[in-house]
Amino acid sequence: MKLIIATNRAPYDVKKPKDEVIVEKAPGGLVAALDPVMRENGGVWVCGGEKLLEDYGIELPYPVKQVKLTKNENKHYYEGFCNTQIWPLFHYFPAKYKLHTKDWNFYRQVNQKFANQILEIIEPDDRIWIHDYQLMLLPKLLREKGVNNKIGFFLHIPFPNVEVYRIFPKRIEILESLVTCDLVGFHTASYKKHFLECVEYFLGKDVDIGRVEDLSISIDYNNIVKTAKSHKVNLILKDLKYNFSDQIIGLGVDRLDYTKGVPEKFEGLEHFLDNNPEYIKKLSFIQIAVPTRSSVSEYQKIKRITDELVGRINGKFSREGWSPIQYIYHNLKFEELIAYYRLADFIVVSALRDGLNLVAKEYIASRINNTGQLILSEFTGAAEVLPHRLLINPYDVRSISNSISKVLKTPKETQVKDMTELRNYVQENDIFKWLDTFLEMLG
Ligand code: UDP
Repeated sequence: MKLIIATNRAPYDVKKPKDEVIVEKAPGGLVAALDPVMRENGGVWVCGGEKLLEDYGIELPYPVKQVKLTKNENKHYYEGFCNTQIWPLFHYFPAKYKLHTKDWNFYRQVNQKFANQILEIIEPDDRIWIHDYQLMLLPKLLREKGVNNKIGFFLHIPFPNVEVYRIFPKRIEILESLVTCDLVGFHTASYKKHFLECVEYFLGKDVDIGRVEDLSISIDYNNIVKTAKSHKVNLILKDLKYNFSDQIIGLGVDRLDYTKGVPEKFEGLEHFLDNNPEYIKKLSFIQIAVPTRSSVSEYQKIKRITDELVGRINGKFSREGWSPIQYIYHNLKFEELIAYYRLADFIVVSALRDGLNLVAKEYIASRINNTGQLILSEFTGAAEVLPHRLLINPYDVRSISNSISKVLKTPKETQVKDMTELRNYVQENDIFKWLDTFLEMLG
């Protein structure tokens, strides 16, 4: 009895600097947590890709079966249906939703390719665990071929309420597929509630449906703590402290996605400095903006908006040798990221909507001396599950600005008390617990 995992993205990345071929585990908690399970239990990972890992002739620790996607499939399935239709709508951005009727056929076609790949390898007692919005049709396509194995599905993004979900023309097809699963998991009780309301609204009260649970994903807490204490991180931290000596440090870490509220965060910071000029030259805000989906036009637009805003705000407040925003448009190495988390007196997560937000949990895990403060948008899944976080409404600049004033006045004892409670929560609810609980529920 093996576990078959299906994800859009491969669990390994191949890099080819010069003549070398380097294989690295893909970043993120999911791969980190599933990797040992797959090694020990002989699982198979089914994923997509334009370039196939097997073409490099590399040995992987367990079988990875890749579905080869054409350029056109990538354009209409991934950039089109996934990232111009589902992504904006499920994150409550109907204005950014663009319907291209062609995209749906490609979405179905790619999900069918995944189904065909699974049909080739499946055996009677295997369990299948399908991940995320790129593969929502896969459960039904498998059932149509007579697969009656256990199927679990986990959605890593929000599930919207009926009023937003109904904008989606393929609303019924997607629900009809998800209800064929034995277990459907969401990050929060709200997403679960929305899903159940949509099922009732579109498929009726009497539809047959499997188990539906809320179970927020997490991080490899112990590994982050170990990294945060490592010599390498201490060295990077020492350099950073030297560069930012005597500064109060605020931090932001986001993929540069319009859902993350990066411009709103900068406007909040501007409002704060307008009203608290005594912090000019005293507070540095470091924003790490990770490049993402740059072939999609909305992402080119958010990049332009953010660049301009950084320039304007830095122009307004900068003094000799000092500017308020340090903007790093770059993908950091894991140790560098953890060093920034350790450096920052507070972090601002201002997402306008976010399925969970792992950055919040990573910051908490990295705070090995139990100080630091988390300013967290109320529109994230993390806000629903974490204790003791300072909630903000990122649509309101004053809310962000006031939260910065508040963290700067919080006594150290309160910080330590709150951070300790947050750390205990994340330590107890780590990625391994998430994984074990999901698989146990799947049965
Ligand atoms: N991250 C990264 N490179 C960076 C900065 C961050 O890979 O330079 C990672 C970060 O460690 C986190 C992930 O990106 O695990 C972001 O996850 P989150 O849930 O916050 O948002 P998502 O990008 O999945 O929407």
